[in-house]
Amino acid sequence: MKLLLHACCGPCALYPLDRLLDAGHEVTLFYLNPNIQPLSEWQRRLDGVQTVAAKMNVPLFADDLYLEREYVRRAADPNRCLYCYDLRLSQVQRRAAADDFEAFSTTLLVSPYQNRDAIVTRGTALAGDQLLFLADDWRSGYRQGQQAARDLGLYRQKYCGCLPSIEASRFKDEIRARHLAEAKQDSAVPPAPDSSPRK
Ligand code: SF4
Repeated sequence: MKLLLHACCGPCALYPLDRLLDAGHEVTLFYLNPNIQPLSEWQRRLDGVQTVAAKMNVPLFADDLYLEREYVRRAADPNRCLYCYDLRLSQVQRRAAADDFEAFSTTLLVSPYQNRDAIVTRGTALAGDQLLFLADDWRSGYRQGQQAARDLGLYRQKYCGCLPSIEASRFKDEIRARHLAEAKQDSAVPPAPDSSPRK
């Protein structure tokens, strides 16, 4: 099956990709994560996905959609994760349909920290009659994937992506300190404005 696999980061891509390739699927990775703040972190996670794509010898699309202001605006919204899933899955579905894929899925389904039911419900609804949303449950391989990432020397993040998820992380002080150091280094570079969601 020709499948477009949304990749949230390198470590989470390893296990699903391994399973899908073993099953004989023709997989293309798709990095589209406008939720990841700050921009240095967005880039770091893209670097990880590029490393995985090269190692596993699969094609990779990367989309530079970035919605910092939108995510700041939604910081207190209790439903922001549903918005976040919908935004990413709908963009992946559009790309899959436009490029004649048979199916799409997301590496979010390997994480025990994500809302699997919400992801599967939305992905299935978006798939419609034309596409399949592959809802494999990869959570039993989460630790195996994280160990493989450690062995590869991949960066492994300690928060989901948006600013509120940093605040929710028990590593928030470490994360904030790193971002502060990076911001000082990059202070000469103007922040990227929001780019618009793809229609
Ligand atoms: S916690 Fe994660 S899934 Fe929820 S809005 Fe933030 S980045 Fe998106």
